[in-house]
Amino acid sequence: MDAEIMAVGTELLLGDIINTNAQYLAKELALLGIGIYRQTTVGDNEERLKTALRQALKDTEIVITTGGLGPTSDDITKEVSAMVLGKELVLHEPSYEVIKSYFRNNDRAMLNGNQKQAMFPEGSIILDNPNGTAPGCIIKGEDNRFIINLPGPPKEMVPMFENKVKPFLSQFMEHTIISKTLRCIGLGEWDMATRVKDLIDYSENPTVAPYAKDGESILRITAKAKNEEEARNMILPVEEEIRNRIGEYIYGTDEDTLQDVIGRELVANRRSIAIAESVTGGMIASRLLGYEGGMSEVLEEAFITYSNASKVKYLGVNEATLEAYGAVSEETCTEMAEGLYEKTGADVCLVTTGIAGPTGGSEEKPVGLVYIGIGVKGKVTVFKHYFTGGREKIRVRATITALDYLRREILAMEMA
Ligand code: ATP
Ligand code: MG
Repeated sequence: MDAEIMAVGTELLLGDIINTNAQYLAKELALLGIGIYRQTTVGDNEERLKTALRQALKDTEIVITTGGLGPTSDDITKEVSAMVLGKELVLHEPSYEVIKSYFRNNDRAMLNGNQKQAMFPEGSIILDNPNGTAPGCIIKGEDNRFIINLPGPPKEMVPMFENKVKPFLSQFMEHTIISKTLRCIGLGEWDMATRVKDLIDYSENPTVAPYAKDGESILRITAKAKNEEEARNMILPVEEEIRNRIGEYIYGTDEDTLQDVIGRELVANRRSIAIAESVTGGMIASRLLGYEGGMSEVLEEAFITYSNASKVKYLGVNEATLEAYGAVSEETCTEMAEGLYEKTGADVCLVTTGIAGPTGGSEEKPVGLVYIGIGVKGKVTVFKHYFTGGREKIRVRATITALDYLRREILAMEMA
């Protein structure tokens, strides 16, 4: 079975944006065992899109389009797909209700075109879009040929493909493809690649592939088998082998996030936590509050103590310490964590201080120097890091690293 990936949009054609959708889809389809016949990019032009779709349907069984499902008049992909397959567009009431309630909830005015987003070629399978307003659809043509219309924004397209299109396509496959993702922190991409390089290079089924994303590294194990159970059984020994090698760096699997893993542990064990952030300025607290399972029960207090004065005022850091060693120092970091414990009595106290740049660095204390302090019942350990990248990247990396220390500390507490 072959597929053509068709990206629709003049922005893409002219190179204003990069076609990451095609890259993603090509990789995913290959994993499913579907041949990539061709990739095309077409502007928002009815005639050319029609021609491209007709040609694609001659050559392949599956045409996957991305883009052009929005409310405006240049969003024409679904309309043209219907035309090419000789289908009428009909209103899909459930989708219309979802779109209407989206606008009610967001206090925004609906455009005329938003109704158009709930019109679909008759008989098509509707793919709802929890991450945006434009649902996608799967339209069946003659001879078991399909056009699958997906939205353009990757944040909407990727989950829709993963959750709706993959299961749909797998019915045509003789094999099932199952993946398991291992999420790591603290292990550089290169480090990870060398420590599990043989698995990445030589494993065929299951395969092992590394990715890096937002300061985390990810290993994906993918098995191809007759059924899901068999595939999962094939994944198990490979996962175990990887865990034997880099297990301490793995914080979770599949959809886990750091904040979920930490939040679950904190809430389940009723451990209280307090945070005082200098260089990360609220990013740690913000990430943790992303956990939905009851952070209010465990987060005592979170301070942003960016200025020296606030470190003195809220955490009781000695002015003499700041003067002698500077705000970005092991000594100040220690006093921040000690002071935070004195003020809050929280079981775990997490603090950061560092230089995010672009200015403020020196030879002795370069931009990217970050101290992370973690105190358990007042007993403080300080970690020193040099992060690279621009200001934002340094702050994100400091945040993730601090959260990972927190995770390890909490796990150690529960083991003790
Ligand atoms: P919307 O409802 O947002 O208009 P849409 O389905 O109509 O969505 P487009 O208008 O074609 O999609 O594209 C919207 C945005 O999605 C683009 O500005 C771009 O940021 C992103 N996008 C579209 N196609 C691609 C692609 N092939 N690769 C990466 N990003 C894309
Ligand atoms: Mg659009």
